[in-house]
Amino acid sequence: MIAENLKNILSNISDEVALVAVSKTKPNLAIMEAYHAGQRVFGENKVQDLAAKAEALPKDIQWHMIGHLQSNKVKYIAPFVALIHGIDSLKLLKEVNKRAAQNNRVIDCLLQIHIAEEETKFGLNEAEAIQVLNAADELKNVCIKGLMGMATNTADESVVSKEFAGLKQLFTKLQTTNSQLKIISMGMSSDYPLAIRQGSTMVRVGSAIFGSRN
Ligand SMILES: *Cc1c(COP(=O)(O)O)cnc(C)c1O
Repeated sequence: MIAENLKNILSNISDEVALVAVSKTKPNLAIMEAYHAGQRVFGENKVQDLAAKAEALPKDIQWHMIGHLQSNKVKYIAPFVALIHGIDSLKLLKEVNKRAAQNNRVIDCLLQIHIAEEETKFGLNEAEAIQVLNAADELKNVCIKGLMGMATNTADESVVSKEFAGLKQLFTKLQTTNSQLKIISMGMSSDYPLAIRQGSTMVRVGSAIFGSRN
């Protein structure tokens, strides 16, 4: 079933859009099923789970940290993480830079932008994002590759589309002065087709691949 779900999703998205298989709460067996179907990029939202799974599973998997990241936990994922989606403060970015340097790495990161109506979702506003981007020039062991956003959890597609369009607009604006920006991470199981229509280059899909979570 997992292999079939993956195949269906991949047949519906272009090669230009990267698929992050969000395996949070799912056992290694389920991840291996996706792996054997060819999937190599997986996302987790908890540091402890990410570290445990990376340790146990094949080394050619690219692990993405998609959840809220606390500065004091960066050290556990710095040796291997391929992309951190949720940079939402300069303090956090500086810690990633420090831990990346200790591991002789440059860690790719995305700035999480607050696009939803809900106040609970983490993220930067435009002015803050510009500040962090400017400061990042001095940090040699991180590279800001793009932006990430989560739309409001609503069935109203016009709201969701508008939020995604806003993120794309900000991305385009920032790109004019930051040519290294390539990735717009937006879209989950419920809204990834909408996100792709608004310019997403990376979708984070969990339940549509692995089934619903408890
Ligand atoms: C859980 C999660 C997803 C995937 O959610 P689904 O609805 O299962 O596709 C995507 N992004 C983030 C940040 C998540 O925490």
